[in-house]
Amino acid sequence: MLIIWTSLTIGLLGGILINYLADCLPHRRRPTKPLCNHCGMSLSLQSYLLLRQCPNCQQRRRVRYIVVILISIWMVFWIQTFPVRMNFWLSWLVFVIFGVITVIDIEYRVILFESVLVSALVFATIGFARHGIWSTLFGGLGGYLVMFFLYWLGKLILKIKSKASSSNEEALGFGDVNLFTVLGLLLGFPAIFVALWIAIFSAGIFSLALVLRMLILRQYRSDMAIPYAPFLIFGAFTLLYLIRP
Ligand SMILES: [Zn+2]
Repeated sequence: MLIIWTSLTIGLLGGILINYLADCLPHRRRPTKPLCNHCGMSLSLQSYLLLRQCPNCQQRRRVRYIVVILISIWMVFWIQTFPVRMNFWLSWLVFVIFGVITVIDIEYRVILFESVLVSALVFATIGFARHGIWSTLFGGLGGYLVMFFLYWLGKLILKIKSKASSSNEEALGFGDVNLFTVLGLLLGFPAIFVALWIAIFSAGIFSLALVLRMLILRQYRSDMAIPYAPFLIFGAFTLLYLIRP
């Protein structure tokens, strides 16, 4: 009974926090008064929490709010019932950070430097405590180097491709390099490379499903870009929350 009660309260709190930060950080780069995620206008706390229509642009708040809150409640339940690798509050904090970065990358296709900086501080502290200084540092370095290599490889392939067609798309952004560096601090060495395989594998399956769907609907576009942060985070998420220690 206590588990359900904790899941509902702490889960709701985490969901609201993720939604709130994902709304204000892309506009203001810091926590501010709650604002409309469509037009950026400040909203009163009451109308924000009650998911009222924005008085300025009349937008109703998106389905995302509900989805995030439901996932967050389920997640707090999961943390309490599954033997995860960190204690309750650390697991919760890391989940909230993962959630904010994922939502912002999906909606704005950007990984904010500010969120990377805060994650670096939190993840390095957890990393030191969990697996010591060297594993943490090598994890961060490994994450940086491998993602930097993939970043340049992506640029090179696009350069060769764009000689045939004129497009200025970007494969991996530098935000992905920053993100994977801080995930390396959190997971340590060599776990960060396991996370990389999970990320590549899941992104591959997702892209394949996307291409198949486009082929079936006959709207295939070869320049379709997908956000990568959710997959990088999914790699770390799997190791921290889904695999028994
Ligand atoms: Zn608005």
